[in-house]
Amino acid sequence: MWIRRLTLTQFRNYRQQELLLPQGLVLLLGDNAQGKSNLLEAIFLLATTRSERAQTDGELIHWDALAEAQPVARVSAQVERRDGPLELEVIVVGRPGAGGAGRVLASKRLRVNGVARRQADVVGQLTAVLFSTGDLELIGGAPAERRRFLDVTLSQLDPAYLRALQRYGKVVAQRNALLRRIQEGAADADELAFWDGELARDGALLVCQRAAAVDALAEYVREAHRRLSGGLEELAVAYQPRLEGWDGARAGAQTKALAAALHQALTAGRRRDIAAGMTLSGPHRDDLLFTLDGVAAASFASRGQQRTAALALRLAEARFMTDRKGDLPVVLLDDVLSELDEGRRRAVLESLGEWDQLLITSTDADRFDGGPPAAAAMFRVVAGQIEPA
Ligand code: ATP
Ligand code: MG
Repeated sequence: MWIRRLTLTQFRNYRQQELLLPQGLVLLLGDNAQGKSNLLEAIFLLATTRSERAQTDGELIHWDALAEAQPVARVSAQVERRDGPLELEVIVVGRPGAGGAGRVLASKRLRVNGVARRQADVVGQLTAVLFSTGDLELIGGAPAERRRFLDVTLSQLDPAYLRALQRYGKVVAQRNALLRRIQEGAADADELAFWDGELARDGALLVCQRAAAVDALAEYVREAHRRLSGGLEELAVAYQPRLEGWDGARAGAQTKALAAALHQALTAGRRRDIAAGMTLSGPHRDDLLFTLDGVAAASFASRGQQRTAALALRLAEARFMTDRKGDLPVVLLDDVLSELDEGRRRAVLESLGEWDQLLITSTDADRFDGGPPAAAAMFRVVAGQIEPA
């Protein structure tokens, strides 16, 4: 799939911008702090309804608009897909008088073909894979980074996953609040039964889908990494669910059997959970384990090795999405090529033709060896405005 038209209104440092994009490779060139990453963020927002880097939605609204009675940021796109074209729109509405020094309170409205829709009906209408410099955290960062990777990927592929994830998050928070009340003697441990059942049901769906995804991703990760590293090392990825008594052989287990196992783990761990004041088993504690030639990458890989591993994971993600969706995702590379050595850059560039549309940001076209690759289009980003280059 590909984006034919992108419109930004009061989004980040863009006042008003319409951009017509071609299929193929699109280069976005510009100095630091001009709006290159903001543009990719807008596309990613349309795909996932979330920003990869904003702490709050209010950050997305142009600062100058915050003084207005009703501050609003708007991103819309016409997307060409195998199933036909689609108009997507995300509107971020700030609370009146939301400006000032503190956080800006805002809510989001979503539309598909002009009709208001809920998040689960919007996420994944456009699929996108974003490569960013922060991807290093996928390998060396906290487990939450890797869970987010799984969640963002799977939510784009299956609305049922996103709905289960939303419910699950709420139930964990409620169960944790109850655990603390039990700890203080203000509630009874029997009250956990209801939440354990809820948690096991949605949690099992998450574990099942994550296990199947990692199964599929593992082969792509290995393959992509072999290409990037010249076959010098072998990168493996394994799913590590936080579920007592789990063994890899049960990766293909049915959701029902998993729900029973998770329910049992929750019941068995009640005393421990009450003492901790939080739920210690379940997919909100899952992790992925990356190993390079059998050695844990998070602890031992060099920065260059971690970067290559992260890149392989993103390439694998794009492949996986293509398989599951039957359509190619839009691929977004934010400044990552400039960080790579020549061989790796070439290997990434060689896989470029595979995608319907690929947007690359860079501070300088000279960063590409032998000049910029044959791009379908080249744009220059200057202070929140985009001009053909
Ligand atoms: P680099 O090459 O350094 O990565 P970039 O072109 O990717 O630069 P962006 O991250 O897109 O730069 O940010 C461009 C500018 O947008 C930043 O200077 C930032 O201060 C500004 N900016 C961010 N949020 C807002 C906002 N809500 N309103 C106005 N400006 C904003
Ligand atoms: Mg940037």
